Amino acid sequence: MSRRNNSPRIKKRINATLIDLAIYLPLFLTYTIYFGEVNDQGESIVSGVMTLPIFIFWLLYFPTTEAAFGNTLGHKLMGLKVVTLSGRPISFLQAFKRRILDGIEIYGSLGIIAYVVAKNSPREQRLGDSFARTKVIGGDSVFCKNCNEQLELSGSDLIKGQFGCPECQTTNMIE
Ligand SMILES: [Zn+2]
Repeated sequence: MSRRNNSPRIKKRINATLIDLAIYLPLFLTYTIYFGEVNDQGESIVSGVMTLPIFIFWLLYFPTTEAAFGNTLGHKLMGLKVVTLSGRPISFLQAFKRRILDGIEIYGSLGIIAYVVAKNSPREQRLGDSFARTKVIGGDSVFCKNCNEQLELSGSDLIKGQFGCPECQTTNMIE
């Protein structure tokens, strides 16, 4: 497989993050409405110990699903997987480390820092990936050796080292 322009994968990573946020935000908002206190401006806010469940959910959703499955739901839908630099499943510590800087490089900067850093990294690593020594794989385009159909590889295909062509049902090895 030749190295191609990395922007299709970065676009998928952005979409995956937006899907993850679409899952996280309604839960976050519902929680603050039910458990928050209304301030002078009429906004519902949570503070002190009541913020803990927000972080606990963040910890359960992002690092736990990434450590258990290699991806969050958003990344799974986009065919992406997080792996170690040698392509192995990541540990919980790695999953946790790659999410520690999310507040700065994704939420705080509207994803601009993550985008610019990943775009200019040879392994498409954002800051969290470099810190955790992880990378995101999947979304590479490839041609079936049998029928020449152009297909997109998922992170799971890349880990297995082979993919099945839906056109001609041939199993292709990834070299
Ligand atoms: Zn084929």
